[in-house]
Amino acid sequence: MKPVPLAPQSAGAGTGRRIRELPDELVSQIAAGEVVERPASVVRELVDNALDAGATQVTVRLAAGGVRSISVEDDGAGIPVEDLPLALKRHATSKIASLAELESVVTMGFRGEALAAIASVSELTLTTRTHDAAHAWRLHARSGELGPAARAMGTTVEVHDLYFNTPARRKFLKSESTEYAHCADVLQRMALARPDVSFSLMHNRAIKWRVAT
Ligand code: ADP
Ligand code: MG
Repeated sequence: MKPVPLAPQSAGAGTGRRIRELPDELVSQIAAGEVVERPASVVRELVDNALDAGATQVTVRLAAGGVRSISVEDDGAGIPVEDLPLALKRHATSKIASLAELESVVTMGFRGEALAAIASVSELTLTTRTHDAAHAWRLHARSGELGPAARAMGTTVEVHDLYFNTPARRKFLKSESTEYAHCADVLQRMALARPDVSFSLMHNRAIKWRVAT
């Protein structure tokens, strides 16, 4: 009996290719598939981080349902400038250092890969200032460009053009109004769980709602 021929060599997986380690950027993009399903998941991760940083006020600004841009601004502790490049690395977190801590972690998200994953499928910038810093710093994730900026204590993460570099995934996004509705829903739930924090939501430069403490 003649063996059934396998798919041609060029067809991809299972064609006798050698095993190799994936580049870091690609690993992050694969993680992004789990972490960042749609703009609302970005909103959840960024607001989680803001709350973990002790924010009392969180402002979310969306453009085109979050597909064109998502910005989350908080008045939390900020990130020390020397830690800034680390914040965007995979498995970099200030929240757990050991397995023991993993067992006792009380913050909301702690996988240490949300920012890296989001940055791998968007244009991400992070502007942050700690209480003892002379001024704020702004880091552009893709270029690594870091420079001085102006803002009060806290952090703003801006995410532009989600999935611009993974068109197949971008195709799965729904209409602007559907993606907006998911974002609003996520934020509303988070706001309900934290009556001690003020939240506001803007869409296409219009204020949608605000809950003050
Ligand atoms: P994780 O939240 O699981 O630690 P992330 O990738 O979401 O991982 O964030 C990485 C790190 O960046 C956090 O551990 C935290 O130190 C810092 N960080 C992210 N967002 C903020 C923020 N809004 N304010 C202060 N620190 C932040
Ligand atoms: Mg996080």
